[in-house]
Amino acid sequence: METVAPFKEVIEEIKEAGGEPYKLCFQCGLCDVVCPWNRVRTFSMRKIIREAAFGLTEIDGEDIWRCTTCGNCTRNCPRGVTQIQIGVSLRRVATEYEVFPASVKSARTARASIISEGNPLQGERKKRADWAKDLPVKQFSEGMEALYFVGCYCSYDPRMKKVAVATADILDKAGVSFGILGSQENCCGESIRKTGSEEVFKRLAKENIKTFIDNGVRKIIVSSPHCYHTFKNEYPEFMVNFEIVHMSQVLFELIREGRLEITKGYDKKVTYHDPCYLGRHNDIYDQPRDVLQQIPGLELIEMADCRKNSLCCGGGGGRIWMDTPMSERFSDLRLKQAQEVGARVLATACPYCITNFEESRLNLEMEDVLEIKDITEIIQEVI
Ligand code: SF4
Ligand code: SF4
Repeated sequence: METVAPFKEVIEEIKEAGGEPYKLCFQCGLCDVVCPWNRVRTFSMRKIIREAAFGLTEIDGEDIWRCTTCGNCTRNCPRGVTQIQIGVSLRRVATEYEVFPASVKSARTARASIISEGNPLQGERKKRADWAKDLPVKQFSEGMEALYFVGCYCSYDPRMKKVAVATADILDKAGVSFGILGSQENCCGESIRKTGSEEVFKRLAKENIKTFIDNGVRKIIVSSPHCYHTFKNEYPEFMVNFEIVHMSQVLFELIREGRLEITKGYDKKVTYHDPCYLGRHNDIYDQPRDVLQQIPGLELIEMADCRKNSLCCGGGGGRIWMDTPMSERFSDLRLKQAQEVGARVLATACPYCITNFEESRLNLEMEDVLEIKDITEIIQEVI
């Protein structure tokens, strides 16, 4: 058997980029058993970790870009290996050398757009608040109850703007005094960080934190679990602590406090998809379900993979910007799971999930059988 000498310089680079937890791995392969990629093609996080340990990582290959950071392997690993951290460290090395396979090029376009306009969607910075131009949405000012941090997809994406409108409408009806930052709002940076662009992330985080402090922000409401995750768990690296609430939690509280009254029924079978960054990464499973269960007529049913076992939509880790062949889309599998349990509506609470589900709905020609809704859109219909 050939003995491969470890590439010490590469190992040092990987360690410097944060990949050292590869040391903990004892190659049991459980990560590969639970990884959603192995439902659509062969992929081995175990192998990636092994190669990193020997400095044999192919930084120009596709594999280091596949992980969606869904967290399923981390949750199941018997050795407490932080696979996401290792994967991101390899992307940092590839980013350092500017080596990207073809499928990742679109993520570079997203990065350029974030750097120039503060969002990955090539929207103009000055148009960030255009979704609200016909609505009574105010600019945030000190003393308001909360800042609504809209996020990039809800600000610019035509489908997701409906979620921003629903959110503003609900907050207004519940009497929440809130405002937005408009063109002062920048991408939160969560996903660009996961693609290895650490410096871009740090710049975005610092700019956002400065804007929050300058405007006297204390409480931040977000639509995206990705904004939620980074504000709550990553921005504290910069010695700040804002109160962060996801809109599903806000809905739960507003209904509980009697500030939001449900006046209509919703006679449909609904299934709820747990976004990875709301569920597995932040343990928010019950509040979105409780909100849906408050609606008369709504029948909530569970899919095969739910709660901590939720099936990733495929959009995390910057994959939302990368090209995934049609035969390898987790979102297609998820729509089929929703159909299998007889759901008429697939509800969720994340802009990436909705974007991927809407695309699958179109590709699978399921427009007549399944609706895709953010839970705010459902609540907007029943208040
Ligand atoms: S589950 Fe953990 S210990 Fe097992 S191969 Fe994967 S990373 Fe290594
Ligand atoms: S985080 Fe998810 S996608 Fe990434 S290797 Fe683990 S199970 Fe697979």
